[in-house]
Amino acid sequence: MILTVTMPKSPLRSAGLDLTILGAGDAFASHGRFQSGYIIEGASCRILMEAGPTALCAMKRMGFKTADLDLILVSHLHGDHFGGLPFFLLEYLYESPRQKPLTIVGPPRIEERTWRLFRTMFPGTKPDLPRLLEYLNFIEIVPGKDHRIGPVRIAAMRTPHMKRDISLAFRLELDDKTIAFSGDSGWTDELAPFVSGADLFLCECTYFDSTQLEFHMNYPKLSANRGQFEVGRMVLTHIGREVLDRRREVRIPMARDGMRIRV
Ligand SMILES: [Zn+2]
Ligand SMILES: [Zn+2]
Repeated sequence: MILTVTMPKSPLRSAGLDLTILGAGDAFASHGRFQSGYIIEGASCRILMEAGPTALCAMKRMGFKTADLDLILVSHLHGDHFGGLPFFLLEYLYESPRQKPLTIVGPPRIEERTWRLFRTMFPGTKPDLPRLLEYLNFIEIVPGKDHRIGPVRIAAMRTPHMKRDISLAFRLELDDKTIAFSGDSGWTDELAPFVSGADLFLCECTYFDSTQLEFHMNYPKLSANRGQFEVGRMVLTHIGREVLDRRREVRIPMARDGMRIRV
């Protein structure tokens, strides 16, 4: 089943995708890296994938315009992945009122949790909320189904990362290119077939020595199983302190803040 939402097209640039790493850090902002955030630029769609608390700052520092975003995609409701959303809502209420629709896509309860966080962070804010709501559209992703949102096709699988809430890995198709993203995830044999054939696979790698922790990836496991991932390019991200401390031993390319990848 494909769930479809239409989005007006506004050609921006030539074919192919550019992915910019806004933040390659983990929840602890290890070694001073920004928390999760990735800009994906296609011919007719601009996506923010993950909205960590530092995403708005990183976007502005790197020269991206918040008004250009068509889609914000969130893998799960941990603060380092969605805690930046209230800052974007504030931005769109005061600094950069929306002139075109914005779709926010994520796991179940993303709309409720985002507004609850917004009200906690900015209580009593009396903005022109009705106007913003006309432009905002939240979509909850269902693992196992394909979703078409404008020119973007998104498939998702549930990852072993959160116990009660659903955390997602994504497979995103746009302009004949495929970007796969692990989100946050412990090791699962389902991930390699899910990302197979992607042009780019961004895979979290939080730990190096703490291999007993089952809710995040660790480098030794990924390194031993690198051959399972049949993808054009694999880049490690969401990189924790242990991995950064031992980065000279890492043989899989690692993301860094500000890195730009042509897909
Ligand atoms: Zn995380
Ligand atoms: Zn997480």
